[in-house]
Amino acid sequence: MSEAKKRGRIRRIGILILIVAIISIIAIKTHSQNEVIHLRYDEAIEYIKDGKISRVEVPEGGNTATITMTDGSKGKVLISETFAEFLQKEIDNDSKIEVEIVAEETSLFDTISLIISLIFSLFPFLLLIYFAKRMNKSFSNVEGSFGKTIEEMMGGNYKVKPVESNVRFTDVAGIDEEMEQLKEIVDFLRNPEKYRLMGARIPKGVLMNGEPGTGKTLMAKAIAGEADVPFFQENGSNFDEKFVGVGADRVRQLFKTARENAPCIIFIDEFDSIAQSRYSGHSYSEQTLNELLAEMDGFESGDNVVVIAATNHIEVLDSAITRRGRFDRHIYVPMPDVTARKEILEVHARNKKFAEDVIMADIARKTVGFSGADLESVLNEATIHAVRQGKKYVSLSDIDEAIAIVLVGLEKKSKVVNPRDKELTAVHEAGHAIVSAVVRPETKNFGISIVPRGGAGGYNFFDVSDTTYRRKKDMLKEIQVCYGGRIAEEIILQDISSGAIGDLESASKMALQMVTRFAMDGTLMVKVGGEVEYNKVLSANASIQAEEICKTAYEAAKAIVDAHKAQILKLATLLSEKEYLTQEEVAQFMKENL
Ligand code: ADP
Ligand code: ZN
Repeated sequence: MSEAKKRGRIRRIGILILIVAIISIIAIKTHSQNEVIHLRYDEAIEYIKDGKISRVEVPEGGNTATITMTDGSKGKVLISETFAEFLQKEIDNDSKIEVEIVAEETSLFDTISLIISLIFSLFPFLLLIYFAKRMNKSFSNVEGSFGKTIEEMMGGNYKVKPVESNVRFTDVAGIDEEMEQLKEIVDFLRNPEKYRLMGARIPKGVLMNGEPGTGKTLMAKAIAGEADVPFFQENGSNFDEKFVGVGADRVRQLFKTARENAPCIIFIDEFDSIAQSRYSGHSYSEQTLNELLAEMDGFESGDNVVVIAATNHIEVLDSAITRRGRFDRHIYVPMPDVTARKEILEVHARNKKFAEDVIMADIARKTVGFSGADLESVLNEATIHAVRQGKKYVSLSDIDEAIAIVLVGLEKKSKVVNPRDKELTAVHEAGHAIVSAVVRPETKNFGISIVPRGGAGGYNFFDVSDTTYRRKKDMLKEIQVCYGGRIAEEIILQDISSGAIGDLESASKMALQMVTRFAMDGTLMVKVGGEVEYNKVLSANASIQAEEICKTAYEAAKAIVDAHKAQILKLATLLSEKEYLTQEEVAQFMKENL
């Protein structure tokens, strides 16, 4: 290449950089002119208290409020729960500031200025792409090819960086059993050689399933912290990109970097957003998922990378995920019961000061349905409340205030139980448990819980291990157990609730199956499937037969509940108190009371 040519190219690069720089400066300037101050919600609250803010506009359905200071300048503040709560109080107390809910509308002016500022901010990039495209050939052998930059601009600058975790096992409370199952991973990450020499198959993937805020991330971090290895955290939705192939590319990047940093842990939150069933029609995520599985299958024994994935929707995951050698270890992380809540509160109380009237066991009892994250917020909100009032200790009134604030958020998600619902759930579950213990004492009850989970208020964990054939007798008993809950409500509380809807459905379904598929109704004709056409006459007959089965089962269950009122009440009281009874406790109760 001649000297003249070289110089010509350097000049072109120089000009290009100059243009980009000038335009960037203009863009930043224009942009920052329409910039308003952004306040944190606690700052905004302070300003309102100090009378520095005269007006707050809350957009309908929006999440950023516009505030006007007394000096006329404007600002924005994110509407947090605490802030919303505070504003509500200001409104209720007729405070001096104006709070107005405004319909969200963007003026023409706003829209135009937005478009202009967008064009300005994008301009340098467009220019860069244009130049790079034109000059790609001549640039490609200059250090750092432009081709790469364009790719990065299209796919986003995906950088993978591990963090160091300082979480320890002692920071995780109330899920000891679950944690126990993970401890050997720590040992493996610390001494991979030991396991390899013995020819052990190392766990590659752990799948954690549980409601948000129950400590899944915390557990994963604790493993990384205890093993003292890098922690890569990614959210599943970051792989769910609009451009085909980007998600898969990111997975490749992530695993590549992880291997370079091994031993280490990859933690993928909201795993369902990439690991949905491949039949769900998300074609892009299918590529991503395939890439992820390929990466995991390709782990060499020396790779020493453990992948931990967390989800709240295990039911939508593709079955290929859970295959041997992939995510073959599953951990269910439950909502904390009263004992677990006390332990979690104690962890978060460590660095805070409390007045003598604050007893963690009492707080635990008041917070049914709160997750670990909710409990952490309670103590945090309480501390803020105490500090605001200039107190040196957090007292019971601060805690109660904080519970109320967190409750507002939870009620929206309908996670929390009021005392009346709790009593009803306890009676209902006790009903199921007693009827089951009477009609099928051989069926194990692994535990009873009235800690709400998902949509349901409570559970009996009956042993429903699959047998190949279902016997008519067993099915009839199961229908009786289904009705046990509602009948207990009816007889003991003299009222029935909508809470039994799931039970009624399962009972009806089972009875219908008995009639239509298994010919257990005294006739021999199978009414669906096979060669027999399922017609209206048969269908009407089938529901009459099924209704008959249900009625008989209902009456039988009612007789049992009637005869065991005292026991059901006693069990319900015990449940209300403890919220969760173990297999042993249930067995003990039945032994002593039936
Ligand atoms: P998840 O990943 O299940 O949504 P996280 O692990 O992110 O929940 O929990 C959020 C926060 O809640 C944690 O950082 C911690 O402060 C608190 N927390 C949740 N569960 C526990 C627990 N079992 N013990 C102690 N703190 C907990
Ligand atoms: Zn029920």
